[in-house]
Amino acid sequence: MDFFEYRGGELHCEGVTAAALAQRFGTPLYVYSKRTLVDHYRRLAEAWAALDPWLCFSVKSCSNLHILRLMRECGAAFDVVSGGEMRRAIEAGADPRRIVFAGVGKTDDEIREALSAGIGYFNVESEAEMDNLGTIAVSMNRRAPAALRVNPDVDPKTHVYTTTGKRETKFGVDLERAKRVFHAFARRPGLDLSAIHLHIGSPVNTVEPYVQSITKGLDLVDALRRDGFGVRAINIGGGYGAHYEDDQAPTAAQYAAHVAPLLKGAGLTVMLEPGRTITANAGVLLTRTLYTKHSGDRQFLIVDASMTELIRPALYGSFHFVWPVRPARGQTPPRRSAQLKPEGAVLVDLVGPVCESSDFLAKERWLPPVTRGDLVCVFTAGAYGFVMSSQYNSRPRPAEVLVDGDDARIIRRRETYDDLVAAER
Ligand SMILES: *Cc1c(COP(=O)(O)O)cnc(C)c1O
Repeated sequence: MDFFEYRGGELHCEGVTAAALAQRFGTPLYVYSKRTLVDHYRRLAEAWAALDPWLCFSVKSCSNLHILRLMRECGAAFDVVSGGEMRRAIEAGADPRRIVFAGVGKTDDEIREALSAGIGYFNVESEAEMDNLGTIAVSMNRRAPAALRVNPDVDPKTHVYTTTGKRETKFGVDLERAKRVFHAFARRPGLDLSAIHLHIGSPVNTVEPYVQSITKGLDLVDALRRDGFGVRAINIGGGYGAHYEDDQAPTAAQYAAHVAPLLKGAGLTVMLEPGRTITANAGVLLTRTLYTKHSGDRQFLIVDASMTELIRPALYGSFHFVWPVRPARGQTPPRRSAQLKPEGAVLVDLVGPVCESSDFLAKERWLPPVTRGDLVCVFTAGAYGFVMSSQYNSRPRPAEVLVDGDDARIIRRRETYDDLVAAER
């Protein structure tokens, strides 16, 4: 699953203790495990090898340049959703022809930048965008490679805020409309409309929604081909689960076992957009306890990390497993689960210093006793963690560290007060 493990009563990331990292780099601190990142990428590549797909790493899940570079070295292509992410991918050495660009609101500038760079596919989300893309491409004397994002009307059974493949979300066009879009645009100058794109939401912790959406997508491809359109590629999106609790998500091999046979022999280049499944378990957030406080029978652990470092609990009510880095009485967690209740445990809310009631990292958890100064680890924070951080309450963003065996190096320095005001001077 990952290389964050308790050994000898304390948490390690690969070959180093979490306590040593906190000591050396301060808290709050994002810590990533290189071995976990590479391991997750390799498992995906192996699981899907029979299709020789483009594994387009979803930059928005974790966009640090050093991590993008590592993904490129592993062989990844890239999935971006903005001009800024495209710039990051290219700076990390990505081949622009292996970048796909999604998003419902691409600006004219972003489209021009992507055309100039020569990206692999625009994942186009509406007729209006398709029209605009064609016009801009003609004006630049280019032909834009385009995939139509199709909304297969499948329920991924995830949070409403991360559901994207139902008809009533803002993403993509519905199946009936998709055919009309091909008829209207496939022969337009400036456009090379030759693929479809499906992304149903995230995290999708079962295989079935993919089977449904890809089955519908392949039916559409057949229908389009019968109408004489050359469809060359299918992008089946991302959203593959991660282990916020142990064994919560299917393995890469399990997803592939059900999905790859559908695509085999379809005569299509296959693209995937994995983000979270690679990065989530590859990162943790270390935080130090500032104060403890009682209210009724509840204990609050007020820690130095907050919603500005990790907003997922506040935004989606997401579960992150939390546990002390050096638990009292050596009570290391037998597994990561919402259900643990060790002997002598205390019911706690883990909250930050930010002035919002939604500023919490975990609620109603039974933890071994924690006191001022103790380090607590927030697990599975590598995806949609640092990338969603903010400076709200004028809090400088934390540092990010990449561990490789016994080595640890800063891949993003901690921000300073000067960083807070730099753009305003
Ligand atoms: C966010 C996103 C992804 C990645 O989702 P994960 O859950 O991180 O795998 C893939 N494709 C598109 C279009 C996205 O918006």
